[in-house]
Amino acid sequence: MNKKNIRVRFAPSPTGYMHIGNFRTALYNFLFAKKQGGSFLIRIEDTDQARFVPGAAEQLLQSMSAMGLEWDEGNFLKSSLANADSIRSESKTYPNTIEIGSCGPYAQSERTEIYKKYAQQLVKDGHAYYCFCEPERLNEMREKQQKEKKAPMYDRYCLTNLATEDINEKLKQACPATIRLKIPKNESIVFEDEIRGKVSFNTDNIDDQVLMKSDGFPTYHLANVVDDHLMGITHVIRGEDWLPSTPKHILLYRAFGWEVPIFAHLPLLLNPDRTKLSKRQGDVAVEDYIAKGYLKEAILNFVAMLGWNPGEGSVQEIFSLEELVEKFELAKVHKAGAVFDIKKLDWINGQYIKKLSDEELLQNALPFFKQKDFFKTWNMEHETWSMQEKEEYLKKVLAVEKQRLLKFADVGEENKFFFQDISYEKEMLRWKTTTDAELLLSLKTSQTVLTEIAEDQWTLEKIEEKLLEAAGDKRGDLLWPLRTALTGEQKSPSPFECAWVLGKTQSLERVAKAIEMWQ
Ligand code: GLU
Repeated sequence: MNKKNIRVRFAPSPTGYMHIGNFRTALYNFLFAKKQGGSFLIRIEDTDQARFVPGAAEQLLQSMSAMGLEWDEGNFLKSSLANADSIRSESKTYPNTIEIGSCGPYAQSERTEIYKKYAQQLVKDGHAYYCFCEPERLNEMREKQQKEKKAPMYDRYCLTNLATEDINEKLKQACPATIRLKIPKNESIVFEDEIRGKVSFNTDNIDDQVLMKSDGFPTYHLANVVDDHLMGITHVIRGEDWLPSTPKHILLYRAFGWEVPIFAHLPLLLNPDRTKLSKRQGDVAVEDYIAKGYLKEAILNFVAMLGWNPGEGSVQEIFSLEELVEKFELAKVHKAGAVFDIKKLDWINGQYIKKLSDEELLQNALPFFKQKDFFKTWNMEHETWSMQEKEEYLKKVLAVEKQRLLKFADVGEENKFFFQDISYEKEMLRWKTTTDAELLLSLKTSQTVLTEIAEDQWTLEKIEEKLLEAAGDKRGDLLWPLRTALTGEQKSPSPFECAWVLGKTQSLERVAKAIEMWQ
């Protein structure tokens, strides 16, 4: 493998959904790799058996694909593979997937033998040691340290008290053992983070990290370093919560005699009150946003800007994925936490919605319309409409709503009068201080104007033109009662738009009902 080639990885521990923070990590890795012409791989970090969730890894790959983030190596869902010609093999742990790439297996649970080998090498070289301490002893030790207000640290009992023969004997008896990294004393571990700049840690604050657990599985730290090395990772781009782990990783690279990759730690995601982004304050899964009808382009755009922008002075806020690839730079990622502002996502999504064609709008909105079953609750006439008639009607609703629509889950919500019979107080029809007679006359004028527009002339422009002509300079007098007659609402789109969507027959029926109320 050519070490010069840029190689980055997204290394999730699948939980069943894609946290927005993890998704941003994946996106930045993807953008960085694409921009540099490097490789982007996915590694499934599934060694924590207690946290294994069936189906979670597949769900994660599914979400990555749905969002259009392609990767070059790793596990791929069989259903999404067309004709990849690289090295590929059946995945043992994830039968619905196939592995592509020469560094597999890409699921850590299939690599335990590798970690064992490297952990033993560290023991042999004196960088790590066996620990046979039982949980009870470790707990007691920690409690004591806590009481003495000391940071919890392993006291190196096994390192100082066990002779080689004792260790061999215990291993022979298959006593449960862990392997711990021997952290050097009082040393500064200094590294240059691409985002945070110079970072330094003193090793006295670092516990002798467990590398291999007694269940035979590695801890995150060992597996992560071994794999990043064996998979030729050149840049480790990950969340800031992993920053305190980095000195341990650097010590591991050193112990193995391996080149240390470049690190870039991404800022935390925050709730608007600047606490760490949490489920309690809203949805944190990418899948939740897809389900609510946010467009994938908008989510990508929004997430890319959580902690990054193309530079001072740039006012551009809408970026396609190609533009993001072109403009993305790790050096421009911010150090400070990034606030997850749903209003910004709504705004960006609204911008993308406005750019959609009528057909695209319809296709995105249809699943939500179907869920809401709007036509079912209306009267029989609409129940008998053909699918095509319904779709034509929905297209008009969308053409009107698209200026204000922020997400597809909201379709029709603001304008239910398009889908149901309406009822309202007759007083609502009155514009300011118009008299009963003036109000009646106004409604009758609208009735005449609308009646005179032929069915095949029923366009938004024609309706607007004819009504404005009839209103002259007294727009409110004519348009308020008509708008209310059509919608039964205090607020709605314009009477022209409402009449256009409702169609001639339905509009005239509603106007006639309003007239009846005042006759
Ligand atoms: N498995 C870790 C996670 O879920 C990966 C951290 C890293 O990228 O090193 O975030």
